[in-house]
Amino acid sequence: MAKASSKSQKYVYFFGNKKADGHGGMKPLLGGKGANLAEMTRIGLPVPPGFTITTEVCTYYYAHNRTYPKELWPQVKTAIATTEKILGKKFGDVEKPLLVAVRSGARDSMPGMMDTILNLGLNDGTVLALEKASGNPRFAWDCYRRFIQMYGDVVMGVQKSAGEDHEPFEVVIDQFKGELFPGEQHVEDTRLDLDGLKELVKRFKALVKERTGKEFPDDPWEQLKGAIGAVFGSWMNDRAMVYRRKYNIPSEWGTAVNVQSMVFGNTGDKSGSGVAFTRDPASGEKVFYGEFLINAQGEDVVAGVRTPKPVAELVKIMPEAAAELERVRKILESHFRDVQDFEFTIEEGKVFMLQTRNGKRTGLAAVRFAVEMEKEGLISWEEAVQRVPAEQLDQVLAPVFDRAAVKAAKCIAKGLPAGPGAATGRIYFNADRAVEAAHRGEKVLLVRIETSPEDLRGMIAAEGILTARGGVSSHAALVARQMGKVCVCGASALQVDYAAKLLFVDGQTLREGDFLSIDGTAGEVYLGELKTAPSEIIQVLIAKTLQPKESRTYQNYSQLMKWCDKATRMNVRTNADSPDQAANAIAFGAVGIGLCRTEHMFFEGYRIDVMREMILADNTADRKKALDKLLPYQRTDFVGIFTELKGLPATIRFLDPPLHEFLPHEGAAQSELAKKMNVPVEKIAQRVHQLAEFNPMLGLRGCRLGIVYPEISEMQARAIFEAAAEVQKKGIKVRPEIMIPLVGFPKELQLQIEVVNRVAAEIAKQKKTKFNYLVGTMIEIPRAALVADEIAKDAQFFSFGTNDLTQTCLGMSRDDSGSFLPKYQELEISKQNPFATIDQAGVGQLMKMAVALGRKTRPDIKLGICGEHGGEPSSVKFCHRIGLAYVSCSPFRVPIARLAAAQAALEEKKAKGKKK
Ligand code: PEP
Ligand code: MG
Repeated sequence: MAKASSKSQKYVYFFGNKKADGHGGMKPLLGGKGANLAEMTRIGLPVPPGFTITTEVCTYYYAHNRTYPKELWPQVKTAIATTEKILGKKFGDVEKPLLVAVRSGARDSMPGMMDTILNLGLNDGTVLALEKASGNPRFAWDCYRRFIQMYGDVVMGVQKSAGEDHEPFEVVIDQFKGELFPGEQHVEDTRLDLDGLKELVKRFKALVKERTGKEFPDDPWEQLKGAIGAVFGSWMNDRAMVYRRKYNIPSEWGTAVNVQSMVFGNTGDKSGSGVAFTRDPASGEKVFYGEFLINAQGEDVVAGVRTPKPVAELVKIMPEAAAELERVRKILESHFRDVQDFEFTIEEGKVFMLQTRNGKRTGLAAVRFAVEMEKEGLISWEEAVQRVPAEQLDQVLAPVFDRAAVKAAKCIAKGLPAGPGAATGRIYFNADRAVEAAHRGEKVLLVRIETSPEDLRGMIAAEGILTARGGVSSHAALVARQMGKVCVCGASALQVDYAAKLLFVDGQTLREGDFLSIDGTAGEVYLGELKTAPSEIIQVLIAKTLQPKESRTYQNYSQLMKWCDKATRMNVRTNADSPDQAANAIAFGAVGIGLCRTEHMFFEGYRIDVMREMILADNTADRKKALDKLLPYQRTDFVGIFTELKGLPATIRFLDPPLHEFLPHEGAAQSELAKKMNVPVEKIAQRVHQLAEFNPMLGLRGCRLGIVYPEISEMQARAIFEAAAEVQKKGIKVRPEIMIPLVGFPKELQLQIEVVNRVAAEIAKQKKTKFNYLVGTMIEIPRAALVADEIAKDAQFFSFGTNDLTQTCLGMSRDDSGSFLPKYQELEISKQNPFATIDQAGVGQLMKMAVALGRKTRPDIKLGICGEHGGEPSSVKFCHRIGLAYVSCSPFRVPIARLAAAQAALEEKKAKGKKK
């Protein structure tokens, strides 16, 4: 990075008149909005002139106690002068005033999270000039009152305080409307006449004075300084920080500030503002999609206060502007080669572009865009694979309402389908209460008149979001879509009474906590709690209730997965403990089991009793008796799994139960078990007491069990090989990979391998067959990683157990970290939850070391991962980079892991290409 203090440092980048200092590739420096304004200017699209203050100024601002580099202000002045020259206007001039919009713009868009100020430059003098120039006094005063409102809110901090449900400026407007139109509800702003607007300006200024003790500033330069400071300041506001944490945007990136000459969508009926997508961002269909409001500024569309019209209707109202927008749509897609989400303003019939960016999309749309754009020749198949964020595949697999349940249910309102999927839950009208309810374990629907960025926490906590007002590009819709939340907005039949915590709809009154269900694909609201049904992909692959040819979604998904297979180097296996789970995972494309946790096979019914009997046994004979009872269960399960796998490998892990998971702690459970085992309850209680551990996760578990009680390992080996012999007899190949858990010392592994090999040889002889098997170990405690070269002398494979490896490397209990990890993330001590995303700097180092040491001893050692991280995209990519052969994850995450693995391979290819 350039030195912030050097004399020649450029902090301000101008754009206008088809020329720009910057370009679309400069997003880190100019932010997404600034870089694309420059790019659109360069390709000749109609962009009002202006300039971008770089993100480096933001970094400087926070590093220097909220001050600016001294070069900044002169550069701003020069850029304003250039803008003035192009437009023939002057900042603060009472004849031809230049008015500007001041907007934030981070590298990645953060819709609605930071501040914007429009109409800056207005005061009691310039408003008169605007009156004259536009010949529309009402318009001029409307701009003025909006400016005071925005500036007062954002720069001077006139905002609702704790306990208030409405913005103070809105309260002033509503009060005033009440005086003018007594008894009327929902009076449109357009009914305020010139005098009314002048009165509002007065009242707004008084409100500012009352709340801040300061006069509203008249001087445009002072206004500009304040606005720039407010935008930089908003980078650290609470909602922006919450958003960054959710989307892993580093705070070091900072925001840019864009200062752009105003164009007006609110001069009358030949003007308007809109937001459009070059294709439908919800379904992915190739149709021009978006909405506009006549006689309005852009913020009105996004704020969701008035419900806008679909862009398709613009053809009837303003055919020329509609044709121009269609032209822009084509240029944008062919230039940016991705679906664009853009903002436009029509001023007296002329279209202006205010922003473009790659459109946020649902998982469904992301897959469809990628597949169709490849077909259209716009992008390559490799690009198509990289276009779909791996975690978004989750949405494609998300449930829909059960058809029969929908038929039987009552649709009580309709709104706009803004975030697809089906959600059902208890309604809450306020974000904080929604969060609390979600913490209590309730499924929550957040119901609001309209949402604002303050509602973000509530939206994150909710299953779905329902609003009474606002369009598909309202804040609620944008954020919901990005989070993959189900969302219905603009359901105008809803009447929400925040104070009474009531919802009136369709003649019914619902209280907070009552159930509603929403269908974000159809835009429908249903009374009560509806049953959900699996997504089409699940219906095709798992339930087999739908034919592939009947589902476009499935076909697109399937094409994407075919490309993934073409690109990928790493395999994806699954963590499965039953034939069913294995079958699901194989349908999703898993090529084997990467972890079968054998203790999970003993959780159910009678088995847990036998398992307890085994654990509680205080002598070898009793333990063996219990093990003899367990053997047939275990063998039957393995037969099922091997049969289902049809020759695919299965990593089967020997018993690894932290014993407390199986012990009966309660008196009643102990009595019950005592009865079943026909022993006095005291004996059970005493044994439980004896076995109790202070730190069960670090106690008698993993291979330590098999070391202390080799008969357990022996039974498990017997079950595996007897099952293998049985399945092999049917002509099905069996490839068991026996995995020893929690190994830290080479000798631990050696002792267990001896048992396995002995039993295998015995059964092979007895059944007159041969076994094709491996024995390996988990690398899940730091010592194993440190001595991996020694361990690899005996281990034929390593599988990283990153759950325990994280627990033991960080010294953080995987079961008890909930009490402090959220704080750690908030303070960015650990930006991500290390139990979800591999801590690459710490745990990752151990993994790299184990890979290198393991390979040194055994160059062809098979390497994989089976901790929960194996299904998390950035961790999957890390595993690719360190050279693992496979990742293993839960069945429903297999598609996500396949996509992430393919993306990792393509990223590597690209990086290598660049190096050459
Ligand atoms: C692990 O520790 O990462 C692992 C896969 O084993 P478990 O979660 O069963 O301890
Ligand atoms: Mg483990």
